[in-house]
Amino acid sequence: MLAAKVVMDQGVHVEGLNFFTGFCVEGHTHAIRKRESSKPKRNNALWVAEQLGIKLHIVDVIEPYKQVLLQPKHGYGSNMNPCLDCKSFMVGKALEWTQANGFDFIITGEVIGQRPMSQRADTMPVIQKESGAGDRLLRPLCGKHLPATLPEREGWIDREKLLDITGRSRKAQMALAAKYGFVDYATPAGGCCFLTDESYSRKLVDLWQARGNRDYELDDIMLLKVGRHIRPRPNFKLIVGREEGENNFLEGYRKQYVHLRHVSHLGPLVLIDGTLGENDLLLAAQIAARFGQGRDAAEVELAAIHLNGEIQQLHVKPTLAEQIAQEWYV
Ligand code: SF4
Repeated sequence: MLAAKVVMDQGVHVEGLNFFTGFCVEGHTHAIRKRESSKPKRNNALWVAEQLGIKLHIVDVIEPYKQVLLQPKHGYGSNMNPCLDCKSFMVGKALEWTQANGFDFIITGEVIGQRPMSQRADTMPVIQKESGAGDRLLRPLCGKHLPATLPEREGWIDREKLLDITGRSRKAQMALAAKYGFVDYATPAGGCCFLTDESYSRKLVDLWQARGNRDYELDDIMLLKVGRHIRPRPNFKLIVGREEGENNFLEGYRKQYVHLRHVSHLGPLVLIDGTLGENDLLLAAQIAARFGQGRDAAEVELAAIHLNGEIQQLHVKPTLAEQIAQEWYV
């Protein structure tokens, strides 16, 4: 938002690009979960574009992004975030877009020293090189610390009006936001990508281990964002809705997964991911019963709905909380 504004203030026409990898937090989790209802349910990229009065192009990169995540040349950050490869990939995609649409250069909001992996003095040139953007990549917020880029040399951008922000603090950015009158803005320090989240990364690794390969489909990674994931045995896991919004979301998957519904008591929808062996369904139902209002009852009735539509009634004693091993929680 700030980088765009700095450049727009120089009379340059700017349009926004927002890459959808499937791992974005915005516009999905916030929309599903009821407890987030105090926050506006909006796509922040669209909202920012509206604030700036620019066009926004949302680019679906789900398929090509798999290669970035599964085989990052520069490895991962503290979780499953391949930030350096990811940045090079996105700037590369932006370059393709500019070439196809008659634009001259790319700007990002990157700041030297802001992030430990992709925004360091020694890694920022890597992004320029590996993306192919070279000196068509301008970072207006810290441009005074960087070699002059093509738009500066061509006189499209006045280098003197670029900024010299460095480091992890967001104080300078917040002061700039205040100067521009931006009172509302998306999280100023990340938190918009699930790959940086420890719990999400654990679930992703668990999914790959359970399936014996590291591939994924969009539905897989969407479901990792929702519910409690409990794996009592290697061959299956339960996905338990934590609240109404999540249950509603999980309902959309009921035709793709064997699932459990509470009958005798109120309780969440539970999807079962994996292949069930003998007695697995019973164990799944006992655990599922623990998360309904019958958790302390002597017996709870649930219905298991199989993929062929067959409905099986199950009467189980709920598993005690202490019997659900901590390591089952993915
Ligand atoms: S936080 Fe996520 S989207 Fe951002 S650079 Fe890292 S991997 Fe890419």
